Amino acid sequence: MMSNAQLEAQSTELLIATWNPGKVSEIKTALEGIPVSLRSLEDFPFIPPPVETGGTYGENATLKATFYSRRTGRFALADDSGLEVGDLDGAPGILSARFGEVSSDQERIDLLLKRLSGIQYEDRWARFVCAISLVHPVSGLVKSFEGEVKGMIALTPKGSNGFGYDSIFIPDGHGLTFGEMSSEVKNIISHRARALANVRAFLKGWLQR
Ligand code: IMP
Repeated sequence: MMSNAQLEAQSTELLIATWNPGKVSEIKTALEGIPVSLRSLEDFPFIPPPVETGGTYGENATLKATFYSRRTGRFALADDSGLEVGDLDGAPGILSARFGEVSSDQERIDLLLKRLSGIQYEDRWARFVCAISLVHPVSGLVKSFEGEVKGMIALTPKGSNGFGYDSIFIPDGHGLTFGEMSSEVKNIISHRARALANVRAFLKGWLQR
């Protein structure tokens, strides 16, 4: 049984509940200056991840945040995101991490470009979507935020920054892929940055309540 002091100490910690190092780094940057001490799943390495059974990004983000909050007793933040390609009827969408059942980002990129072969640049529109959920174990808080960025799928991969599909996504208004951009620029315009700006504003108010 935890004492009130222990519960209080834990409530000022925020667990970033993702194993994706690219996401962890973007989330940490976006929450700089917020008075919470950030923890990562490296601190809880023996918890097997939940099965993502949600039908939407928001459902999956809440499912993950709830799962890790319950298992650790911590205030948890989880993200669920994906790439939706117009010409593929919104695929890979919430299945972006498992697209094609192949095992690497490079193979997923190759498969996506193959599916789009013959489609001219003007018709390769797409968007990244991100949902971020916060779940607090003591107060019962469950809250979700969303962000999106529209753009185009490049004809060939370019750049090695970032992760996932970054090397083939060119955000609207920019001539470079996310993979060619600095993290500073991506962290202003990305779907995750947009969702995180709302998380940040919410946390500021919530922590002062
Ligand atoms: P999740 O871990 O289920 O949310 O999987 C999301 C997947 O979508 C990731 O594994 C990436 O393949 C892709 N994805 C989401 N956000 C980004 C991004 O910012 N850049 C590149 N790929 C992304």
